[in-house]
Amino acid sequence: MNNQDTLSFAQSLDQQDPLRSFRNTFHIPQLQGKDVIYFTGNSLGLQPKRTAQYIQQELEDWAQLGVEGHFHARNPWMPYHEILSRQLAAVVGSKTSEVVAMNQLTVNLHLLMVTFYQPTTERYKIICEAKAFPSDQYALESQVRYHGFSPDDAIVEIAPRPGETIIREEDVVTAIEQHKDHLALVLMGGVNYYTGQVFDMPAITKAGHRAGAIVGFDLAHAVGNIELQLHDWDVDFATWCSYKYLNSGPGGVSGVYIHERHATNINLPRFAGWWGYEKETRFKMDKGFKAIPTAEGWQLSNAPVLSMAAHKASLDVFEEAGWERIHAKRKLLSGYTHFLMQQINVGQSEPLIQILTPADESRRGCQVSLLMLKNGKSIFEALTKQGVIADWREPNVIRIAPVPLYNSYEDVWRFSEIIKSTLNNA
Ligand SMILES: *Cc1c(COP(=O)(O)O)cnc(C)c1O
Repeated sequence: MNNQDTLSFAQSLDQQDPLRSFRNTFHIPQLQGKDVIYFTGNSLGLQPKRTAQYIQQELEDWAQLGVEGHFHARNPWMPYHEILSRQLAAVVGSKTSEVVAMNQLTVNLHLLMVTFYQPTTERYKIICEAKAFPSDQYALESQVRYHGFSPDDAIVEIAPRPGETIIREEDVVTAIEQHKDHLALVLMGGVNYYTGQVFDMPAITKAGHRAGAIVGFDLAHAVGNIELQLHDWDVDFATWCSYKYLNSGPGGVSGVYIHERHATNINLPRFAGWWGYEKETRFKMDKGFKAIPTAEGWQLSNAPVLSMAAHKASLDVFEEAGWERIHAKRKLLSGYTHFLMQQINVGQSEPLIQILTPADESRRGCQVSLLMLKNGKSIFEALTKQGVIADWREPNVIRIAPVPLYNSYEDVWRFSEIIKSTLNNA
């Protein structure tokens, strides 16, 4: 099918969209009484309408049952995290026993590094992407220092080549081979938060393992966005937040994945808490920690039920929509966005927009990062004024993330029209 840059074409794609009714299952923010065009699902996903009801149920059970809710709530709170695991396993492509929802993302990065970053004087280096999300940089740097190493020596950052904007996978693999005698850990994003580049996780994992290193991923921008098969890819560990593409609400509970060859090893070093203790005997409150032989063995505290109820609400929406249909629409919607952005350059003496995100469908997810070569700031202001919520990064990058469940083809067409009219009037 050939894409067309017209409203009627965009509307016909919406009419054929099997997921179009899902937009109505979300609260869409308003500007002057009209739905905004919400393109920041990569930052904070929108609220499913059913979320209030899921939280309300727990509030009612708490009001009526008090502490007894741990056992007698309609969804008993003691094992509450367990009801999320099956759906999370479908999101990341793992066994149910390899995932658990707990804590926050940066906390989990630290907890996983306690287990999986065990540097020795020989093997202590970490390979990561340059300009990783700041929290990840601080986590890595402080872990390295904690073990008595210097970040300048121990952290090897892979950057795009001079004059290029995305990281070449072959450069990651080459760096892994170069540092192989000293490499402890490869820890990258699954999707780069700035460019939207999707990394070849299976290839990076293979290269890391060949070098004798552990391989983990920060999936903050990957979960709920692209297809993942963490178990089959043989990834050692991963963690993510659920408030971006997964729509679980501000500060929503994070999740972790730990490959079963590690998860079943109760002797792996870790920071322990009572919620990671063997379930049958947890309440004997005995001395001496005995880990659950699954990812749950990394839990510290009892489950934040209200936050998990919101997460459950959003996972149920995804399950109803079906991941296959979601990924199919994501590809079409992002393809249409790329097409419209390229159209803006057609017939211009110099390009007005450079798309930073890879054009290759297997190397991009929902996000499209646009380097604005002309009038970037005034375009962004016009977009904001006309009800488009996007993300601005100094000096001149606009990031948008049209998502399959609540964005339409018409949304991206309108976005492109506002850019065009601003370019022409500036
Ligand atoms: C959003 C994001 C974070 C945020 O961390 P929190 O601990 O949830 O505040 C961290 N890392 C990456 C890569 C992110 O995209």
